[in-house]
Amino acid sequence: MDCTFCHLIRDDDARWVARGPVASAFAPLNPLAPGHTLVVPTAHWADIFDIPPEDLAHTMALVQQVAAMMRTALQAGGVNVLNASGPGSEQSVPHLHFHVIPRWADDAFSTWPTQRSRHQIADDPVARLADALAAAPTR
Ligand SMILES: [Zn+2]
Repeated sequence: MDCTFCHLIRDDDARWVARGPVASAFAPLNPLAPGHTLVVPTAHWADIFDIPPEDLAHTMALVQQVAAMMRTALQAGGVNVLNASGPGSEQSVPHLHFHVIPRWADDAFSTWPTQRSRHQIADDPVARLADALAAAPTR
């Protein structure tokens, strides 16, 4: 499979923060902040829609661990956790990844979108989501 992140994992070609059988973490080539880390499932899953919930839980546990270390080891005040999944989301690499970006009060940086979506939904999108979740099988 021709996947950038699978190549990194297979060829051991990254600055690893953590490596595990289910989830791994490494530094991106162009960090947005000092300590910016990508957390990925070690196996290839394309996006949030694709990954089994158990593997996602392991991956998110590593996201939480990395975030905690950013507070203690980097003295970050907080973190931003960002993911893009699927067409239209600006997902850059089609291997599920979570950006964990340490934040400091003096960093003069914003990852929060300043614009609002122009997409329109005719009826109530919140009611549609609630109805769909209520009808879905519980895990
Ligand atoms: Zn991959």
